[in-house]
Amino acid sequence: MNNYENQDLFSYKSEDNPKPAKKNKGFHFSYSKFSLYKECPLKYKFKYIDGIKEKPKPFFFFGRTIHSVLEYFFSRVPPPSFEELADFFKKEWEKENFEQKGYIKPEYEKLDFNKGINLIKNFHYKHQNNDKIPFQLEYSTYVDIDGITAQIIADKIEYEGNGNITIVDYKTGKPGERTTEQLFFYQKICEADNLILSKIEDKYGEKLNSVKVKGMVYYYVESLKEIKFGRANDTEINYFWEDVLKTVENIRSEKFDPTPSERSCGYCDFKPLCPIYKNNSNSKIETLSNDYLKLINAIKELENKKNEIESEILKLINDQIEIIKTNSAVKIKKIKTYEFKNRDEIIQILKENNLYEKVLRPTIQAITELMEDEQINEEIKQKIKEKAKINYKLTIEEQDKSK
Ligand code: SF4
Repeated sequence: MNNYENQDLFSYKSEDNPKPAKKNKGFHFSYSKFSLYKECPLKYKFKYIDGIKEKPKPFFFFGRTIHSVLEYFFSRVPPPSFEELADFFKKEWEKENFEQKGYIKPEYEKLDFNKGINLIKNFHYKHQNNDKIPFQLEYSTYVDIDGITAQIIADKIEYEGNGNITIVDYKTGKPGERTTEQLFFYQKICEADNLILSKIEDKYGEKLNSVKVKGMVYYYVESLKEIKFGRANDTEINYFWEDVLKTVENIRSEKFDPTPSERSCGYCDFKPLCPIYKNNSNSKIETLSNDYLKLINAIKELENKKNEIESEILKLINDQIEIIKTNSAVKIKKIKTYEFKNRDEIIQILKENNLYEKVLRPTIQAITELMEDEQINEEIKQKIKEKAKINYKLTIEEQDKSK
């Protein structure tokens, strides 16, 4: 099952919207780092301190691709047509194969592709008359604050005038239990951000000393529903920010004890390294089973590809040619086989022509050999042919070029 609830807001990258260069003044911190540490400090360590890469997850790829489509949608007025969006989505989708995206089967990838097209269609239908390019799309900034360099990437920011902004965050999962902490982080950083002030001045000519977050929105793209939040008050923000700074302190003090839970361990790739799971045979079985399943799917994929290539070659080979020596190192042999719908009819023909004993047992191979036998009367062969379907298969083997 996919879990789009875990969509990482910071994972989206747009090639068309370059991000400001990282400053190096403080400890780089983001909401996704904060929430990962809260989920499990050891998971945080494996990912951000040890730099161990996690396996690709389909829900991240899906979320990233939909974010790119929405960025493209809002990039111009009037917006792109549904066909243009679908085309854009398809191109983004095809940049990676199903395994690179993290799917275990191509069928699951196809399901998500169709889901994406449907989602885009509904989104386009609802917003097709949009006549305003948002103030900021995929807004990325780094703010030095309280000894850390905090980063946010906001999907969309609308400017409401008089220094007021609304922050919109797209969610590609289903609406569920959603904390407001992410939005608190955004509010805190946006209100301390000088870059946004210069962007407002550039675009609207307003010279401001500060901005105020007027509201924040989670936009659930699949259901097209918005969950709106008003501005968080100072007490809420201060309480939250204390927690952020305490978390940073814990990281600096290298406090990385694991905090296992069904939710966090369920999708954790670090189980083989985690002391809680390392020696647990169930966890090893789970890891090996997943690898096994991947292998089975890869074999199926290769088998399908092999069949495709085989039928392509068969189409290209002239009916008369049985063995082809190519200029490359392969020798191709085309083998004719017969498929019989009614075995009794064939036995009848063989018996009538005193050939039943000759084949010993009327297997497909025995009949195929009989049909190749130059001693057998052509009329009999014709009778058998009329009751049979002829198939071809290939054998392709290395040829000895020295001969
Ligand atoms: S398996 Fe669970 S406890 Fe271990 S690192 Fe992952 S989330 Fe933490």
